Amino acid sequence: MKPISDFPRIAMGHLPTPLEPMPRLGAEIDCASLYIKRDDCTGLAIGGNKTRKLEFLVGEALEQGAHTLLGFGALQSNHARQTAAAAARVGMRCRLVLLDLVQYREPAYDVSGNLLLDQLLGADVQIAKNDTEAAAAARRVMEEESAAGRKVYVIPTGGSNAVGALGYVECARELIAQSEELGFSIDTVITGTSSAGTQAGLVAGFAALGAEVRVLGINVYKPDHAALEAVLAGLVDEVTSKIEIPKVAKSALQVRHEFLGDGYGIPTEGMHEAVGLLARSEGILLDPVYTGKAMAGLITLVRDGELGTRADGDGRAIVFLHTGGTPGLFAYRDALSRQEND
Ligand SMILES: *Cc1c(COP(=O)(O)O)cnc(C)c1O
Repeated sequence: MKPISDFPRIAMGHLPTPLEPMPRLGAEIDCASLYIKRDDCTGLAIGGNKTRKLEFLVGEALEQGAHTLLGFGALQSNHARQTAAAAARVGMRCRLVLLDLVQYREPAYDVSGNLLLDQLLGADVQIAKNDTEAAAAARRVMEEESAAGRKVYVIPTGGSNAVGALGYVECARELIAQSEELGFSIDTVITGTSSAGTQAGLVAGFAALGAEVRVLGINVYKPDHAALEAVLAGLVDEVTSKIEIPKVAKSALQVRHEFLGDGYGIPTEGMHEAVGLLARSEGILLDPVYTGKAMAGLITLVRDGELGTRADGDGRAIVFLHTGGTPGLFAYRDALSRQEND
């Protein structure tokens, strides 16, 4: 394996993030050994999984002499918010093209949550109604920046290319080291998957270590299941060749699709239950778009006996990767306060 220290990187996260047991949730859903990896605590402007990716992306941007980061995402993108914070942190400009595509709406969605924070963090925000408008906005940004003599570093949606995914190759190493220190072994890591860099990095990272850890992605993004799996497979191949390890077997790429509901960013009953259950059993805040649905998947799979049953007997742990997203709670105020009254 090529050493991770060979790749340019700017330290921005509070790492390692904690790996903690969730005994009260475990008792509630009857899961013998349940842990949470707190990547919501990466520290960069409320944190989240994009911080680890941005350490490598911004490292490469600075190495290339770029002045401006150009990022893409949905209106309530956590990635956009962390990109804006990373740019501020290293003194770069940040320009964001945000797609207004989520079919769920309430007044707070357009003004609060991540969008409010993007503006506070000093990013220039362009809002596009569709892909054509987004492409035109990106072209305009490129022209404006180059007319001003500034070099632009373009970050793909979700920071998910082989460079960004290096952050999760590192996270896999961190998880193995922490679980060894705590004296348990990991059976499965569960994570929400959208642009797939997180899952791809973890899969490659565990493979690089020869660690037999299953990574289970919960699709929170694409109704087209095959398309999501193809993106994941392509990205895993890119990461394994970047870090110079053998290709990973297709059987290591596992995604469950049934927790997406009506689509990206659209609340589901399972999400409502998961967000409430984590808050009340562990004092942990999830988010409505990613971790709420990922946790709904974990809860259902445990209840159905597919995951983490005591009958497994070998005591290997289930680890939920908390990928962040908490600012999204405030953009879904109406959806979530309905739950309070249930
Ligand atoms: C982006 C994001 C994810 C998904 O990560 P990918 O690497 O894009 O698959 C999960 N959770 C949160 C909170 C996110 O912001």
